[in-house]
This record gives sequence, structure tokens and C-alpha cells, in this order.
Amino acid sequence: MPVSDTSPVRVYEIYDSIQGESTLAGMPCTLVRLAGCPLRCNYCDTPQALPFDSGQEYSIEQVTDEIRQRNRPLTLVSGGEPLAQKSCLALLSALAEISPILQLETSGAFNISQTDSRVRRILDIKTPGSGENKRNHWENLNFLKDGDEIKVVITSHDDYMWAVTILRKYQPVVPVLFSPAWGDIQPSDLALWILEDHVPARMQLQLHKHIWGAETTGV
Ligand code: SF4
Repeated sequence: MPVSDTSPVRVYEIYDSIQGESTLAGMPCTLVRLAGCPLRCNYCDTPQALPFDSGQEYSIEQVTDEIRQRNRPLTLVSGGEPLAQKSCLALLSALAEISPILQLETSGAFNISQTDSRVRRILDIKTPGSGENKRNHWENLNFLKDGDEIKVVITSHDDYMWAVTILRKYQPVVPVLFSPAWGDIQPSDLALWILEDHVPARMQLQLHKHIWGAETTGV
């Protein structure tokens, strides 16, 4: 696949952690957080990385050098919204060459069809409670493949019902993970709703917040 834009990327931070979400939760990983996001979700837990001029510029080679040195089994590219930066596609292809497993977490507001086929995409579907559900690029559901997954952050019972309706309408072929918005709903409530309704979704908690606390950054 031709990837044309290899200009530097704006990186907010790179650090080692335990993948806190997704079907790979619990794996040691290195997280590459790209700077900048045009969305403003009500529950955003990385407001510091939203400005496009936050962080600093890295060449793609500088990022891959750092990932090589850290030598983790999983690399996670997150944000911000990584795909808001044009050279993110080239970065992903470069990281796919050296990362045993490479995940991308994206808001779903940008077309995901051009990402390298080796990337495992975590596609957020934004609920009404996020305040950004009009940004969902529904066509992305047609591009999902093996290794990808869907994440839905649930802020209320109304959000949950909305997500169930979406699941039943689109019947995605990849795992779907429901995540309680931190501080908005009780995990036990979401678990009960999923069980009562026989919803074909998995529940996930943000493991890193349970390990290090919700306010701790850079882990
Ligand atoms: S898409 Fe992600 S980074 Fe952007 S505002 Fe929403 S939660 Fe925050």
C-alpha cells in the first residue's frame, strides 16, 4: 500500500505500561501517544494531549528507534486521535515492521481503511453520552477485519441501550467491548445489564486505572 506522507509526527509521550483495555488487556506494552484530537468527549482522560501543538515532533525513525530499544511484545498507538495526523499511516507501517503486535486506538471519526493490514485497530464508537456521536464514521464498520475490535464507552443506561441497538443493527464480526465511563456508572450495573439482555459484548475495565489510580498519567 503506498504511504506517501513520512513527515514527522507530533508525539505527546511514549512510555511502557500494561495494556489496560482491549482483548489484549494485561500485556506489557509500549504506548505511543500522538498529540492532538479534534473531538472533545465528555469523559476524555487525556485532555493534556488534545492540543495539536502539545508534545514534540519526532521523526518516524526516532519513534521506531525508541520502540526497538523498549522491546515490548505489544505497541499501542493512541492519542489524542492518531489518524488526525497524516503521517500516522507511515508511522504505523514502520512500527508494524518491528512490533510483534501493533494496536491502534482510534475514535472512529476518521476513515480507517488505509491503515497497514498488520495493524489491529480498536475502533471507538462514540455514544450520545460522549457528546461526539455525530463524529462516528459508520463506514468504518465495513473495514473491520480479524484482529480488530470495537470499544464502546458507556456513560449511562441510555448510552447502553443506544449501544445495544447499534450492535443489533450492524452485527459487527469483531469482538465488541463495553467499558463503563470512569465515575459515571458502576461497573456492576453495566455487568448486570449485559447479563440480563444477553448482549453479545464483553465487558472491560480500564486495568491501568485500577493498578495505578485514575489520576496517574504516563503509566
Ligand atoms: S477521541 Fe479520545 S482523545 Fe479525543 S476527546 Fe475523545 S476520548 Fe479524548
